[in-house]
Parts: sequence; C-alpha cells; structure tokens
Amino acid sequence: MNILVLNCGSSSAKFAVIDSADGTEHLTGIAQRLGTAEASLDYSHNGQKHVQKLPGAGHDQGLRAAVQVMDDLGLRASLAGVGHRVVHGGSKFASSMRITPEVVAQVEACIHLGPLHNPPNLVGIRLAEQLLPNLPQVAVFDTAFHQTMPARAYTYPVPHEWLTQYDVRRYGFHGTSHRYVTQKAQELLGIAANEGCLVTAHLGNGCSATAVKNGESVDTTMGLTPLEGLVMGTRSGSVDPALLGYVARATGQTADAVLDALNKKSGLLGMSGLSNDMRTLQEAAAQGNPRAQLAIEVFCYVLAKQLAGLVVALGRLDALVFTGGIGENSAEIREKVLNLLGFLGLQLDPGANAQAVRGKAGRITHSLKPQALVVPTNEERMIALDTAALVSGSFAGAQYL
Ligand code: ADP
Repeated sequence: MNILVLNCGSSSAKFAVIDSADGTEHLTGIAQRLGTAEASLDYSHNGQKHVQKLPGAGHDQGLRAAVQVMDDLGLRASLAGVGHRVVHGGSKFASSMRITPEVVAQVEACIHLGPLHNPPNLVGIRLAEQLLPNLPQVAVFDTAFHQTMPARAYTYPVPHEWLTQYDVRRYGFHGTSHRYVTQKAQELLGIAANEGCLVTAHLGNGCSATAVKNGESVDTTMGLTPLEGLVMGTRSGSVDPALLGYVARATGQTADAVLDALNKKSGLLGMSGLSNDMRTLQEAAAQGNPRAQLAIEVFCYVLAKQLAGLVVALGRLDALVFTGGIGENSAEIREKVLNLLGFLGLQLDPGANAQAVRGKAGRITHSLKPQALVVPTNEERMIALDTAALVSGSFAGAQYL
C-alpha cells in the first residue's frame, strides 16, 4: 500500500512515497528553505536526484510542487493515505490516530508543549487535506510510544500543581524510532512483541534512550522537551537547572537566550567549539584536538551512565540497541560505551562491531545475555506502516485519551 509520509517543519517539508508492505521508497524529497529566496524542492526518484528552484515559496507552494511531482510520476493515484509526523501529542495520544477535526483540535491543544513543532505539523495536515482531499490522513506522534511510562518515571519532583495545571511531566520523544527498532530487535532476538527487556539508544543529532519492557516504553531520557537527557549535537542534555539563572545573571542575557544556547550552542558543538557532527569530531580527535577528545569522552560517559540508569526500570537487560546516525555507523563510539558498560556483562565483539555500519544490522557482542545490537532505524517506514494499518482498519490498540 503506497503511503505519502510527510514531516512538516518550520522551514521545510520532508516527504516520501513508501510502500508500507516492503518499505520500497518510490520517491523521497524535501521542500526546503521555505519562505526564503533560496527555497527549493529537492527530490530523488529511481536513484536520480532533481532540484527545482522555488524562490520565495512557502509551505503551500512547496507542497503543491511536491504533489505535482507525484502527479507527473503517476504516483498520486497509487496513494492510499497520508501519514504525518506530529511531534507533541502530550498525554492525549498513546498511539497513532486517524485525523479527524477532534484530533486536530487536540493537536492544537498541545501547542503549548511543542510550540516550535506542532504549528508547522498542523500546517502540513491542513495543506494535505486541501491538496489531497480524498485521502485519509493519519497522525503519528513522537511522544505516543512513551505514554506507557509509569508515574514514577514521568513525574518530576516539583510542585504537584505544575503537573495538574501546566502539564509539566516527562513525555519523551523519538518514540517512532524507539518503537521501530524495538520491533526489529525483537525479531533479531526471536522473541514476541510483548517480551524482552531492552534499552534502545537513538543517537543522531538529537539523542535519546528508552527502557522498553515487554514491548512498552517504561522510561526514557528526554523529558518535557527534547532538551533533557543525553549529550546531543547542539543540545546540552541534562544540566543543573540553576545554571539558567546563574548564566543569565553572569552574562546579562535573558533566561530565554541562555535556554536557546542550551538547545543550539551546547552539546558536542559547545564543548568542542568545532562541530555538532560526530564524524568531524572523531577526525579532529584522531589528530589530537583536545576539545574534540573531551567532547567525545563526555558524550560516551554520559551516555553509558544514563543507559545503565535505564536498566533500573527493567530489572534486567536482555539487549542494548544502537540506532541513529552515530549508533548505526560509529563503531568507535559503540566500543567506548560498551567498555564502560562491561560490568553489566556486555562483552564487545570487535570484528562484528566493525562490520555493523552503513545500514547493516546485527549483534556486536560475544555475550548473548545481555547482548548489544545495531538496528538501523526507519521512522518513515513506521509512519507508513501505522498509516496503512489505520487506513485498512487493521490497526491494533489505537487509543485516544
Ligand atoms: P538526525 O538526528 O538529524 O536524523 P542522523 O541520525 O543522520 O541525524 O545522525 C547524524 C549524526 O550521525 C551526526 O553526528 C553524524 O556525524 C553521525 N554519523 C553519521 N555517520 C557517521 C560515521 N560513519 N561515524 C560517526 N558518526 C557518524
């Protein structure tokens, strides 16, 4: 079943036409730099890349151009539905949902929690409804997978009214990726969908890790926002919240400006002063750059510490799963992390670790229980699978809270 997967951000819209059954990507593309003179539609079909300049185009024109490409390639007629990535579903959505006016209203009601992401996600939903009016639309939430977390994992030790009046709690993100790699890891382990104690580590530009017990998220490192938890490309991850006021006073900046720096100028970029890109840092570290070396050391140490912490939520560890650009490709980072976690019984297999790169999945430890796996993620495929299941009525476990 061909599904249009749409990920609409503030200045770009990523799209893909995917066969949900076998994952074939018939078309992938991005309308980017929207709202600027450099706006363009870049897409790839049958291995061929195309760039269409769209100076001054906004989301509307960008998506119209994408739909025109689908028309020209004869793909539009094959579509069975549209699956939208929606970042924040708050506590309202515990699974993907067929989009109705009520669902749209609830996504709007979550804007205070995802003020940067939900508005462009809603723009994508409205435009797709206009441009493809006869197709069913589905919302797939980054937060939904984590709605199974127990109160002890999602409750912050802060005044209770912050939760009841302002919805302050841990939500967690990257849920579509954690869910996808959980299913793939369960296949590799030969266990059922409701079995296993896994820790999944999604390490891309954004990084988060999740404790998955019997197929359900029971704790995760990201929180109210994606700033909490692991060290990331430009985000600090967890720091003493008192530094916000301290640095604001010390530098004369507003607290919002300091928060912005924690999101955009910290993490690997902030520590190294060089780049948010792990490849660049690994190269610089190999040439002796001390700040790149320290940034990598802090990244791995904090990662190992938080991964070990998630095992508390599980009671035992069957498998640690690496995914995302760093998790899928950097044998060096995986080696450092597994060496720090040796006390859990994880024993690195250096040969297998070196092999598991560029989309190859597999076990990278000699140890079997626990073991470490590399599993390439595919959030678009997961969105296509959910959309196909909801469109065809075979979706199990949809919940509307
Ligand atoms: P996003 O979160 O934006 O989807 P990705 O999942 O593509 O990002 O991950 C991007 C990160 O993966 C970057 O830090 C990049 O340097 C890193 N990465 C990709 N390939 C490698 C590699 N071979 N070795 C080390 N890091 C890599």
